[in-house]
Amino acid sequence: MQQIARSVALAFNNLPRPHRVMLGSLTVLTLAVAVWRPYIYHPVSTPIVKTIELEKSDVRSLLPEASEPIDQAAQEEEAIPQDELDDKTEAEVGVHEYVVSTGDTLSSVLNQYGIEMGDISQLAASDKELRNLKIGQQLSWTLTDAGDLQRLTWEMSRRETRTYDRTENGFKMTSELQQGDWVNSAMKGTLGGGSFVASARDAGLTSGEISSVIKAMQWQMDFRKLKKGDAWSVLMSREMLDGKREQSQLVGVRLRSDGKDYYAIRAEDGKFYDRNGTGLAKGFLRFPTSKQFRVSSNFNPRRLNPVTGRVAPHRGVDFAMPQGTPVLAVGDGEVVMAKRSGAAGYYVAVRHGRTYTTRYMHLRKLLVKPGQKVKRGDRIALSGNTGRSTGPHLHYEVWINQLAVNPLTAKLPRTEGLTGKDRSDYLAQVKEVIPQLGLD
Ligand SMILES: [Zn+2]
Repeated sequence: MQQIARSVALAFNNLPRPHRVMLGSLTVLTLAVAVWRPYIYHPVSTPIVKTIELEKSDVRSLLPEASEPIDQAAQEEEAIPQDELDDKTEAEVGVHEYVVSTGDTLSSVLNQYGIEMGDISQLAASDKELRNLKIGQQLSWTLTDAGDLQRLTWEMSRRETRTYDRTENGFKMTSELQQGDWVNSAMKGTLGGGSFVASARDAGLTSGEISSVIKAMQWQMDFRKLKKGDAWSVLMSREMLDGKREQSQLVGVRLRSDGKDYYAIRAEDGKFYDRNGTGLAKGFLRFPTSKQFRVSSNFNPRRLNPVTGRVAPHRGVDFAMPQGTPVLAVGDGEVVMAKRSGAAGYYVAVRHGRTYTTRYMHLRKLLVKPGQKVKRGDRIALSGNTGRSTGPHLHYEVWINQLAVNPLTAKLPRTEGLTGKDRSDYLAQVKEVIPQLGLD
């Protein structure tokens, strides 16, 4: 950073005076925007909107001194670790999916993925109904090479799907009405020598359906650990049009492993619960440390280097903290990476279920090994200043389905179950579904 700062200063001093003034005020403006941008985060219990007010004297300490050099996307050098199950169940490349849940709005959903407010308001302008997202509906989208929104698909109901495509002037909406019939199909199998994926394919499940089963069970079962003789049964709702399968939705799954039964059944909200209506995912910590530290650099998938004009995405958030601060796993999971690696320095990656991965970089000391299981709150490392770093800090990333999201605003799993009428509706449904999940 010092080197870069020096060369910037040098280049700056060589500019003619009017340019200097302009560039100087531009830099101040950029800094002001970067520094004063308020951020919102949602702790596990009650949502709090937090705005950080800064004294002028703080601005200095917020310069990227405790961060990565701005042009070094340190985190890009390491891919998110995948395993053999990912290879076998790979979803469509580049398509991001999201199920609407409590409190979501179009902008809160898309914003956590770094989609710009300009695109979001253009979308909303193309269809006012987008303001009325309902719990359980599915959104999916693709991005342009530059990371802007290309297309958004909104599955409003089983009958209607709306698609919004980027055009030169805003987004163009098209609506598609489904005419097919939805029928339930029950399928089951027993693992022979092969994997669950092989067994499910033999029983007639598509790749997408297999992937939805694995995701529904992700908090209870590691499908890579299933053994010969383990049995499964699924109930799939499929839309048939002219005898052809158009789309499908997982209703429920039962898995018997080592003589024990595990269930995941879909509720109206699009999430999966156990037989008693209890949520399956354990809550995550919002911060990977026991106290909250100052944010020295925010998540920004389009961060521009003010000098080169190059996009150098910042896929995580930097917290300035003293070296040796204990770094905590934010959720239960398995360590998939713990090593020293160039720009990232000493770093750890933890996989939580099949959907989430978190990464922790520039550490001083690793306290875990690859393959190790960790619990939420476990110490996994001590923070440091290793790799390409310009001051003691922790670079922290959250990935959802292979896409980096803003750790301060991302919707993370919460421990919660169904209550009231939602729960009684659910339990009535469980009573219908379970008899259809027979095993051999
Ligand atoms: Zn960083």
